[in-house]
Amino acid sequence: MSFAFHRPESLDAAIAFAREQGDAARFLAGGTDLLIQINRGRIAPKHLISLAGLGLDTIGETPTGYVIGAMATHEAVVNHPGFQTTLTALTQASAVIGGRQVRNIATVGGNIVNASPAADLVPVLLALDATVELRGAAGTRSMPLDRFLVERGRTDRRPEEILTAVGFDKPPAESATWFLKAGRRKAMEISVICVAAHLVRGGKARIAIGAAASRTVRMPDAEALVEKQGAAAFREAGRIAADAVAPIDDVRASARYRKLLVATLVERALLACADRIAGGEA
Ligand SMILES: Cc1cc2nc3c(=O)[nH]c(=O)nc-3n(C[C@H](O)[C@H](O)[C@H](O)COP(=O)(O)OP(=O)(O)OC[C@H]3O[C@@H](n4cnc5c(N)ncnc54)[C@H](O)[C@@H]3O)c2cc1C
Repeated sequence: MSFAFHRPESLDAAIAFAREQGDAARFLAGGTDLLIQINRGRIAPKHLISLAGLGLDTIGETPTGYVIGAMATHEAVVNHPGFQTTLTALTQASAVIGGRQVRNIATVGGNIVNASPAADLVPVLLALDATVELRGAAGTRSMPLDRFLVERGRTDRRPEEILTAVGFDKPPAESATWFLKAGRRKAMEISVICVAAHLVRGGKARIAIGAAASRTVRMPDAEALVEKQGAAAFREAGRIAADAVAPIDDVRASARYRKLLVATLVERALLACADRIAGGEA
């Protein structure tokens, strides 16, 4: 493994250098996905462009929402005071990413751009209808995260574009989010299935599932049923979601077992949201 390490002094310099180098360069955030891919010989970039020190690591709050800088670490998400009640699914997902050493360096932006179908934070962000912000040679643009994710390992990002932030609206008072992950161990484990749910009393329902298809997916049919019928439809929503996914058979779990997990975890995540709203904990 041999590459040159670059630490540009501005976002524009990083973008210009990435544009110049094309496929020979990769942006480096925490490196917890990238360096493993390089080590395993899957990619061999000649240049790594660090995104550290460019002001992308803050978590900002506006009157109506939050903007998480792409370089914010999972540990920063876990500890953010604004994410402890209605947005608790963010802390639940970030808290089970790797171990503490990983969470101290691995970033929210890396979790999104790496585009693993098993990325734990991504279903939560999808359930929050999050929007990604990108900056590149042609300026800045934003789009729904759901559109940004294309398939395993592929997003709508242009090679020189930097994901600068991910933003979402603050959920209303009577709402809750919940995240559940099934793995073969309780720690340092890639998800066999992960599920995020977001419920607003008498209104919106969102369900997103990781590790069940070639990318993290939302479940619009199950969501529509819950929005129409409420708690009476939680079990059926799980069944609909299980029918809609196309998981793989691999060393971690069979496709059949993954579908059973989807049905169970979707129902449980929705029940947990409803319980929190009813108990006034959200
Ligand atoms: C031991 C271990 C355990 C892990 N456990 C989990 C787990 O339980 N759950 C989970 O979801 N993940 C897990 N991971 C994977 C990884 O830690 C996360 O996906 C993490 O969020 C990646 O962030 P990073 O900052 O390290 O990204 P990097 O490795 O630096 O980057 C990943 C990819 O995204 C690109 N990139 C990064 N940031 C940007 C940006 N702002 N703009 C444009 N491109 C960018 C890079 O070029 C690279 O292609 C684990 C990894 C390890 C090593």
